[in-house]
Amino acid sequence: MGERTGIEWCHHTFNPWMGCVKVSAGCKHCYAERESERFGKHIWGVSAPRPVTSEAYWKKPLSWNKKAAAAGERRRVFCGSFCDVFEDRPDLVEPRARLFELIEATPHLDWLLLTKRPENIKRQIPLSWASLGYPANVWIGTSVEDQETADKRIPALLHVPCRVRFLSCEPLLGSVDLTRVHWARPANETVLVGDDSPRFFESLRGYFDNGRRTKIDWVIAGGESGPDARPMHPDHAYTLRDQCLAAGVPFFFKQWGEWVPRRELPDEFVELASTPTLTLADLADVFAPGYEMLRAGKKPAGRLLGRREWNEVPA
Ligand code: SF4
Repeated sequence: MGERTGIEWCHHTFNPWMGCVKVSAGCKHCYAERESERFGKHIWGVSAPRPVTSEAYWKKPLSWNKKAAAAGERRRVFCGSFCDVFEDRPDLVEPRARLFELIEATPHLDWLLLTKRPENIKRQIPLSWASLGYPANVWIGTSVEDQETADKRIPALLHVPCRVRFLSCEPLLGSVDLTRVHWARPANETVLVGDDSPRFFESLRGYFDNGRRTKIDWVIAGGESGPDARPMHPDHAYTLRDQCLAAGVPFFFKQWGEWVPRRELPDEFVELASTPTLTLADLADVFAPGYEMLRAGKKPAGRLLGRREWNEVPA
């Protein structure tokens, strides 16, 4: 929540309010909920409060914006590390409207709004965005943890004509084939920029690697960290990277998380990694043969994929 963030793919984080409610398997070990509980804040669940953050805190983006302007650079703000900006509750209407005003007032910041509820976006954005277009500093992403959530959330995201659309595939819990996702464009919907075909059904391949404008502009992937972290199948990470490479879509590999295949663990940490605690039966369910997974912890597990880092970000 501070001036600088430990999240590898953004410069700052901002939370207009705190708290959320779980919606899918990716939320099971929600870090934000765990941290909030640790500090005695009971703000998770349907009926829990969503305290709006302080006035002083709301001023920070204005100062980041000034600094970015003075430095002649753009800075990315991850909005909603402790909430979901598009959660649907009456008490969030006002702070969300205020957030959108703040976004408009800070054109040197790129605002990354990440949601597990992309179906709500269209009816929650300001009317001016719907009629005149999204501000250029708005990037919207959705979380994808497996094929089911890809099939459900990506089509909703594709209906959002913002400048950058991205996926956060973290924690990656299952395989994801982006070329399999189908989306239906309502017959009366305006054709998006770059589309020249009003076909009703399109596979995401057409929207992912059509050679003109990719419909998904960025993919971030990573495994789960924390005490009960579920291991990420290495093949799921490799194939997602390969799809991005094939489509020319920037790929950012954030972390392995708690578990790492031995072949990717930086050499200096091999001795330190503890013995896997998954039983062989568990491993048979979770992993293809050929991977030895070590419980190394987030930091030692690192972020090498194919023995190198992937730090690509949209231009
Ligand atoms: S949507 Fe995000 S913030 Fe909300 S419970 Fe799920 S993981 Fe946590």
